Amino acid sequence: MLEVEQMLRQRNIKVTPQRLALVTELRDKGHLNIEELYNSLKRKFPSISLATIYKNLNAMIENCFVEEVKIPYAKSKYEIAKDLHSHVVCEECGKVCDIDIDLSSVLKCDTISNSGFEVQKSALIVSGTCCDCQAKKKK
Ligand SMILES: [Zn+2]
Ligand SMILES: [Zn+2]
Repeated sequence: MLEVEQMLRQRNIKVTPQRLALVTELRDKGHLNIEELYNSLKRKFPSISLATIYKNLNAMIENCFVEEVKIPYAKSKYEIAKDLHSHVVCEECGKVCDIDIDLSSVLKCDTISNSGFEVQKSALIVSGTCCDCQAKKKK
């Protein structure tokens, strides 16, 4: 717990019990959406609202401490910010995992240079079925 508190203090983020719990969840479980966060925080703080969680998340996103992972056709997931990386998403259960892909060759392709855009950042979202869900299907 102390560790999380230090992480927040280092970034000059006001430490509150809710924020500590929120960041601990993200640290321990990785990518979570707003409902998953709400359901686990509600156990500790029965009066917490979705709006409070959004407010806390947004404050920490502004501070670049938390990052929003935008997933097409699904609710955003949140994680503690680190280097830009890509994700695989399970279409069945919504599980999200980090993947390490070098996108530099993709970014050099003609389609992108012909668009006239100057690339700033790029990350991939790959969707599929996770191991657990594949196993469930085979049963
Ligand atoms: Zn799955
Ligand atoms: Zn991630």
